[in-house]
Amino acid sequence: MELSRRDFLKLSGASAGMAASLIHLTGGRAKAVTQIPLRVRNVEGHTICCYCSVGCGSIVRSHEKEDEPGKIIYTTEGDPEHPISQGSLCPKGQAMAQVHQVDGEINPYRLTKPLYRAKGASDWQELGWTEAIEKVARWVKDTRDQSLVLQEGGKTVNRNEKMASLGGGELDNEECYLLAKMNRALGVVYLEHCARI
Ligand code: SF4
Repeated sequence: MELSRRDFLKLSGASAGMAASLIHLTGGRAKAVTQIPLRVRNVEGHTICCYCSVGCGSIVRSHEKEDEPGKIIYTTEGDPEHPISQGSLCPKGQAMAQVHQVDGEINPYRLTKPLYRAKGASDWQELGWTEAIEKVARWVKDTRDQSLVLQEGGKTVNRNEKMASLGGGELDNEECYLLAKMNRALGVVYLEHCARI
């Protein structure tokens, strides 16, 4: 069935009205349910393994430790209803909970902010995301402008040999496609993926 923009807006308005009525009829309970914070005990969710582009399905659960009330433990296991992996996870995927927790404690090695080590410095410093992205964008632009070879032997080559790109195993097909397009546009010829190294 094709929906015009007007039909879509009407339908959205009707759905919103119905949801508002339900919340009203249930004395606000529907609203309360949608506002449960994520870090609570006995929550179950479905996700995709973060480690490689196979994209196996996983069930993540949180529960309170019996002998330490208040302490929330996270576990992961294969999702039997996932169409690709059908419940199986490789050893890496089985250890996925360690991204967040190790032996019930927050993983101290988990990086949550960009780290920057200036040229010649021995220490890393934390950067905000905006600053980090601006720095990288500046370096990419400057390097490309300084090193792009437009012509060689009378032929157009548009080659940039001073930059390289290394993709990671978590990238999916669509991300790899966009990464390759962006790098080709920058003239990058050293374009690789970690799985081939
Ligand atoms: S790392 Fe293992 S579990 Fe995770 S997506 Fe790849 S094959 Fe699946």
